[in-house]
Amino acid sequence: MITKKNNDYRILLYYKFVHIEDPVAFADEHRAFCQELGVKGRILVAKEGLNGTISGTVEQANKYMEHMHNHPLFHDMVFKIDEYHKHAFKKLIVRPKKEIVTFRVDEYEIDPSKETGKYIKPKEFYELLQRDDVIVIDGRNDYEYDIGHFRNAIRPDVKSFREFPEWIRKNLSQYKDKKIITYCTGGIRCEKLTAFMLKEGFKDVGQLEGGIITYAKDPELKGKLFDGKMYVFDERISVRVNQVEDVVVGKCYHCGKPEDRYINCAYDMCHKQHICCKECEEKYKGFCSKECEEAEMHAVKA
Ligand SMILES: [Zn+2]
Ligand SMILES: [Zn+2]
Repeated sequence: MITKKNNDYRILLYYKFVHIEDPVAFADEHRAFCQELGVKGRILVAKEGLNGTISGTVEQANKYMEHMHNHPLFHDMVFKIDEYHKHAFKKLIVRPKKEIVTFRVDEYEIDPSKETGKYIKPKEFYELLQRDDVIVIDGRNDYEYDIGHFRNAIRPDVKSFREFPEWIRKNLSQYKDKKIITYCTGGIRCEKLTAFMLKEGFKDVGQLEGGIITYAKDPELKGKLFDGKMYVFDERISVRVNQVEDVVVGKCYHCGKPEDRYINCAYDMCHKQHICCKECEEKYKGFCSKECEEAEMHAVKA
C-alpha cells in the first residue's frame, strides 16, 4: 500500500557572498535564533558570507526566510525551496569558518562578490549544453557526478572541492580559449570555481545560475539533459531532476548493475558511501565488504 506523505516540511538551500565583519559573533547569535525557531541543518558563516541548508515545518521555514530578508546583509537572499515530509537533518550546526565553501587558494583573492563567471539562466544553459563548441564542467565531486550529471559534462576527478584548483591546472589548460560553462548543486561552488578560472586565464567562463536545483524547477525544461539523480547533502541523499527521461548512470558497487542509490556501509567505523542495488544490500547486509561484515561481527561479540 502506498501512503501519501504530507509534504508539510521545507528544505531550504541558500548562500550569499557578502562581508561579515565578525563571523563568530554572527554565528552565536544566529545559532540561538535557529535553536529557538526549531530548524535543523548546517549553516556556515565566514568573513566572505553565509552558506546554509536547513529543514523545518512550513511555518518555521517561512519565519526563517522572513528573518533573513529583514537583515540588511541578506534582504535579497535567494532561497531554493524543496518540499519534504519531515526534517531532512538530524541536528543543527551553525559554525564560523574561514570560508563558506572550502577552496583554499592563496595565490590570489577569490571573491565572487567582486568577480565571478557570467551567470547563465537555465534556458540558455540548456541551449549551450547542446553545442559542440562548448565545454561543460561539473563543479562537484566525483561521487556526485557518478549518480547523475548533465549529458556530456566532464567528470572532475576530485573527492572534495579543494582539489579543484590542482585538477583544473592539470586537466583543463587546453580549453583556455574555449567557451566554458560550469554547474553545481545550488550555485555556490561555481561562484568560486569560475572566479578561479578567470584568474587562471580562462577567457569565457559561465556558471549555471542557481545550480541544478533551479534548473530542475524550470517548468518548461523539466530537467531535460540531466541524466541520473542529483546528489544532495541531506537525508534524501539523491533526488530526481529529469522529469522526461529516467536514465540511470550509476553502477552497483558489488554487482555492477545500473543503480543510482547510495547507502552507507553498515559497519560504523567504515560508513563508506557506496552505490548499492536492493538485492546486493540484502545479500551483503549493507556492508561494503566482507572485511566490514567480519569487523562488525567481532565488534558485536566484544
Ligand atoms: Zn548489486
Ligand atoms: Zn565498509
